[in-house]
Amino acid sequence: MTLSYVHPTTDSPWGTYLAQVDRVLPYLGPLARWGETLKRPKRSLIVDVPIELDNGTIAHFEGYRVQHSLTRGPGKGGVRYHPDVTLEEVMALSAWMSIKNAAVNLPYGGAKGGIRVDPKKLSQKELEKLTRRYTSEIGLIIGPHQDIPAPDVNTNAQIMAWMMDTYSMNVGATATGVVTGKPIHLGGSLGRVKATGRGVFVTGREAARRIGLNLEGARVAVQGFGNVGSSAAELFGQAGAKIVAVQDHTGTIINPKGLDLATLVPHAKATGGVAGFAEAEKIDDEAFWDVACDIVIPAALENQITAARAARLKARLVLEGANGPTGQAADDVLADRGILVVPDVICNAGGVTVSYFEWVQDFSSFFWTEDEINVKLDKIMVGALKNIWDTADRHKISLRTATFAVACERILIARQERGLYP
Ligand code: GLU
Repeated sequence: MTLSYVHPTTDSPWGTYLAQVDRVLPYLGPLARWGETLKRPKRSLIVDVPIELDNGTIAHFEGYRVQHSLTRGPGKGGVRYHPDVTLEEVMALSAWMSIKNAAVNLPYGGAKGGIRVDPKKLSQKELEKLTRRYTSEIGLIIGPHQDIPAPDVNTNAQIMAWMMDTYSMNVGATATGVVTGKPIHLGGSLGRVKATGRGVFVTGREAARRIGLNLEGARVAVQGFGNVGSSAAELFGQAGAKIVAVQDHTGTIINPKGLDLATLVPHAKATGGVAGFAEAEKIDDEAFWDVACDIVIPAALENQITAARAARLKARLVLEGANGPTGQAADDVLADRGILVVPDVICNAGGVTVSYFEWVQDFSSFFWTEDEINVKLDKIMVGALKNIWDTADRHKISLRTATFAVACERILIARQERGLYP
């Protein structure tokens, strides 16, 4: 039985998610009776976001907030601004948040939002209007105890500040806990900006140790050089690995001796991307998937590792910094080739984990040091990955199916204990 308003294809994000759920059902025992719960978002809101552009015309954008599950706590997940955003994509991203939050045992359900817009075409004032109107429209269903948005692709601390302010104006009181990923002066948390990349590094470090891959001198290829890709690259660099290739929307660069991140990161920030970086060779975008390396980190968008690319990859380890970068067919090709995948739903959970720390700090109005945050993050990620690894060993299943098994069991036990209303 599918939802009447979506028509997932095998490789669409929602289709991929449904296939991932089907794979885990046999491992859930009697809880599988509740399995259909996982295949239906609890609530999906579509909003029209009209704004007056700087040139005086009125533009309309379509926005979404999907709350996939509220079973284990309030909704939680980012907001994405991208020209390709669709309801179906946001449904998948919200479902992956439910799995991710349960996998690291945060007291949250899963949610996600997005606006179909190319934010690079908007002025700062237009971006602010878009954000405020969108926040007001989804204000019906968000709140510190209902659903807590955060940054995702093309959104950042400034956008969270506008969201927090708009929500606070509408309710008549400052509500710092309504969003996470805020600026530090507005109740943001130290360590949040780099947390997703740090989580990718921590899970990657643990996975590498378990498969006997030494990080010292390991060759790393990174796709996506935004917040997640660049932070993860820096941490791998600090651990002695060489970043041999980076791809972003401006192009693909390689340097087999290792790219100098101390100059590449400022270059990308100043020019908007990695293209034109002097100490590297530019290659064809498709050739990124043939680069000789030990670790690949897809940290951009969905469906980047297709079955064909999976057949070409040289790496031993794939660390999914992005959400949904690997399609189901590609996952099988990687498994057949013995390439280990640390799946998105645990690999990139560091961001939402520190979002949780931020939310807790906002409620207690007591703020932790960056060191305390990084130590707590490391501990949660290592513990969660160990549990998942043990589950994978016990059932002889992939880390992805094991993460789903751990998470879906937590969600469905809560579902069963709460019972059906009425
Ligand atoms: N957008 C991030 C993710 O996909 C973070 C979500 C959050 O912090 O709520 O996990």
